[in-house]
Amino acid sequence: MKVTIVGSGYVGLVTGTCLADAGNHVVCVDIDPAKVEKLSKGVSPIYEPGLEELIKANLATGRLRFTTQLAEGVEHGGVIFIAVGTPPSADGSADLSSVEAIVRDVAKLMTSSRVIVIKSTVPVGTGRRMSQILEDLTAHPFALISNPEFLREGAAVEDFLRPDRIIIGSDGDADAVQIITELYAPFAKTPQTIMVLSRDAAEMVKYASNAYLATRISFINEIADICARTDVDINEVRSGMGADSRIGAAFLYPGVGYGGSCFPKDVQALIRVAQGVGSRSDVLASVHARNELQKVALAEMVLRKYGKDLAGRTLAIWGLAFKPNTDDVRDAPAISVIRLLSKAGARLRCYDPKASANAKAELKGCRGVEFVAGPYEAIEKADGLIICTEWNEFRTPDFDRIRSHLRERVIFDGRNLYDPRTMIRQRIEYHSIGRPAAIPSRGHAAPPPKHK
Ligand code: NAD
Repeated sequence: MKVTIVGSGYVGLVTGTCLADAGNHVVCVDIDPAKVEKLSKGVSPIYEPGLEELIKANLATGRLRFTTQLAEGVEHGGVIFIAVGTPPSADGSADLSSVEAIVRDVAKLMTSSRVIVIKSTVPVGTGRRMSQILEDLTAHPFALISNPEFLREGAAVEDFLRPDRIIIGSDGDADAVQIITELYAPFAKTPQTIMVLSRDAAEMVKYASNAYLATRISFINEIADICARTDVDINEVRSGMGADSRIGAAFLYPGVGYGGSCFPKDVQALIRVAQGVGSRSDVLASVHARNELQKVALAEMVLRKYGKDLAGRTLAIWGLAFKPNTDDVRDAPAISVIRLLSKAGARLRCYDPKASANAKAELKGCRGVEFVAGPYEAIEKADGLIICTEWNEFRTPDFDRIRSHLRERVIFDGRNLYDPRTMIRQRIEYHSIGRPAAIPSRGHAAPPPKHK
């Protein structure tokens, strides 16, 4: 099939590359010339496991190409996916200006029938409105499909190739549904993986799913706070809860709050949708409010330990990305933590395996922040270590090196990576989320150094 993707970011690039890999001829359009130039050379502008290899392989077959010219894309693809950003407007509602501008341009450029697929996350009713715009601007036949994306950054290729479900939202255009079903057939584990819903329902499934996952995170963070104040270990509570098959263990990890380019903005946008139709959104508002609290909880833990003035203090930060295996720092909790601690006067030595360049751009002008090449370089002569992202390489660190590098042996762990009993044995003061602080007494001897 001939397919065009407009917007070559996390979603568009993964979609275009995986569709090309399945044998389709794909043109990816993006307005950013630097991005298109890189991509045309086989260099991925984002870090996503397995993606760059797949881009290179499909460029080589000639089934994948990149352009800045929308006209070229509209001429090429019988199916045109729109996968541009829908960032929050000042009032929290989804900013649909890029989606709408593309719909208008496509309407003017198309010279025969097209299936237009909105993959961007858009509020209920957007498909209907975009369909009306197309109706007004083109005499050529078209179908407008909603096809929300559920991939997780950090596992995006894997998720696209083996999705739990593929949602096709349509208002009754059977031919267009058939075309999109055929396009996705290679990725469907079973025929039931592909679900055809109304267009409005498809749009709503995406927001409801993200809001529900965000709710679980805020819920467990709230329970964690009660646990911390009652000397109960949230990890024990979490595993006890998760063993209930009605509850399950996923998305019940306490931490520094949810971040990234989806949950924060989608919860806010859904609240605006609710307000717009006169519905109360008390649960969603609380989910958001708890997350705002959670994002600063780790920094506040640090300020409780050292006092409000951190001038003269150096702190190490491990992890800048909003989650492991991505370089995305959009709305990352680490950024909020760094801003707060920098404002309090601290010097911050930051390390992330992939996200340092993006964090550097995000934190431009933030005082006292430096980026280093390795985790142990970050803790050199630091007064404490703060963990913001659960990259695998932080799970089993060399505690001997941590003890010898840190000026004060204190770890603030926003991801509960370690067992507090281990930290007592390691003679490291350990603060984590929803668990009593582990503070070694003088009587605790450090473990003998490891043999080489
Ligand atoms: P992104 O910012 O990574 O990518 C958007 C791309 O669109 C950028 O490369 C930008 O240059 C390009 N662009 C903007 N305007 C354009 C135009 N007029 N013509 C051509 N290209 C244009 O965004 P993303 O993270 O891929 O998200 C895209 C959409 O998918 C959003 O609605 C988001 O909510 C949704 N979504 C994202 C994820 C995720 O994990 N990132 C998951 C599911 C759904």
